[in-house]
Amino acid sequence: MATAIRPNVRSYQMYINGEWVDSASGKSFPVYDPSTEEVIAEVPDANAKDVDRAVQAAREAFDNGAWRSTTAQERGRVLFRLAERVRKEAAMLAELECRNTGKPIVEAEYDIADVATCFEYYGGLATKVVGYVNPVPDNALSLSMKEPVGVAGQIIPWNYPLLMAAWKLAPALAAGCTCVLKPAEQTPLTVLEMANWFADVGLPPGVVNIVTGFGETAGAPLVTHAGVDKVAFTGSAAVGKHIVKMAADTVKRVTLELGGKSPNIFFADADFEAAIDGALFGVFVNQGEVCSAGSRILVEKSIYSKFVEAMADKAKKIRLGPPLERETKMGPLVSKEQYERVRGYQEAGKKEAKLAAGGGRPASIGKGYYVEPTIFYDVKNSAKIAREEIFGPVAAVIPFQDEGEALKIANDTPYGLAAAVWTRDIFKAMRAVKALRAGIVWVNHMQPTYVEAPWGGYKQSGFGRELGPSGIEEYLETKQVHINLNEQPIGWYS
Ligand code: ADP
Ligand code: MG
Repeated sequence: MATAIRPNVRSYQMYINGEWVDSASGKSFPVYDPSTEEVIAEVPDANAKDVDRAVQAAREAFDNGAWRSTTAQERGRVLFRLAERVRKEAAMLAELECRNTGKPIVEAEYDIADVATCFEYYGGLATKVVGYVNPVPDNALSLSMKEPVGVAGQIIPWNYPLLMAAWKLAPALAAGCTCVLKPAEQTPLTVLEMANWFADVGLPPGVVNIVTGFGETAGAPLVTHAGVDKVAFTGSAAVGKHIVKMAADTVKRVTLELGGKSPNIFFADADFEAAIDGALFGVFVNQGEVCSAGSRILVEKSIYSKFVEAMADKAKKIRLGPPLERETKMGPLVSKEQYERVRGYQEAGKKEAKLAAGGGRPASIGKGYYVEPTIFYDVKNSAKIAREEIFGPVAAVIPFQDEGEALKIANDTPYGLAAAVWTRDIFKAMRAVKALRAGIVWVNHMQPTYVEAPWGGYKQSGFGRELGPSGIEEYLETKQVHINLNEQPIGWYS
């Protein structure tokens, strides 16, 4: 629930056990519009006490069967109703997402449409969860039954706030789990708005709890809480590694979607215009604040100079501006912290590579956390800007001699979330598809993401898969059931 505390500043509560509540400490923290640097909201600053309250509510709602014992059809219908509500309020949600993240309104509208689609997809999948009959060599019926894993603790990032919430909540709820979700501290607003409809669409109290707070004070207690059965995390690699360690003491199920340094590979025979657009879109969409950003652009030497030039020309024309204006193609970064990080990488890049476009903050814009779309070329794959995830609009262009070298450079990274390859040669494309060590490989495209298809990383980009049928599997346990069919049980001592 939200009320106005000052003009343009709304005060939110958080949603625990079907009620709107303040934090136990009474503290709250500000939420910003990164295009104006102004505070637009205040939200409760949750600590371990609030997390405990939320986990207990989720635990109770799971253990008493309020959600788990509903039929799959009923759970599906609840998700359909939520999807419908999101569609109905799409304009409000998109505008709020746009203001809070700084992403262009057109992109925010896509996100909200995807949110509704995600709830629909898993609403449908709820009734498609099936078990197995195991062919045991005895007069017995052996079953593998699928059951919800229990209470899910879900921690999400700020780049696609409501969409990441949907990716976490939809499969968990379809499976019959109950949830405690912690949005990123920078962007908690849209999921709080969505919580307004939870009771209406038929979610019993405690089934979904939204706890707003910071990583160390609210995220960590959720990961270590003994009442949580599974942790699903999307965020930075550093925090992901820490989460695995924290979850070890209570042997929680963990799924992680961490960052990447995804290669976008261009062979000389690719459609040149499409390639340039694909390179720019791959790394600059959503201000480059994308875990699958094609931030290493590998280009075959014979087209390299022309490619860098064409990319730079187009990058300089990308329209930066107020995110709510429909012509805007790139908004500000999400926060001051992120702005400073990315500015740091822009400066680091100037010391280790050549600059083709951007490199600073746009001179024409006064306020807001804007940075120019930036292209470095002649980048060594060992350079800092080629190794570390920047999470901003900074591209590292790297030349290669031949296919073998391209694939070697592409795989030379600790990450393995995504990769893309551009060529008209189907054999070359297929060789790359097989050679690339990444969870998602695009051919002649980069970034399209569908709820129907699995999403997740190889190597240090994480483990587990979201979306598609695998997304719900991560929220299911398998129970083996043995039913004796002999009149007399078999045993050594009868
Ligand atoms: P970024 O550095 O870009 O903010 P993070 O990985 O820090 O990315 O944040 C992703 C999510 O992880 C956020 O919801 C954040 O609050 C949470 N988080 C950060 N640190 C921790 C932590 N120590 N334990 C649990 N969650 C955390
Ligand atoms: Mg952080």
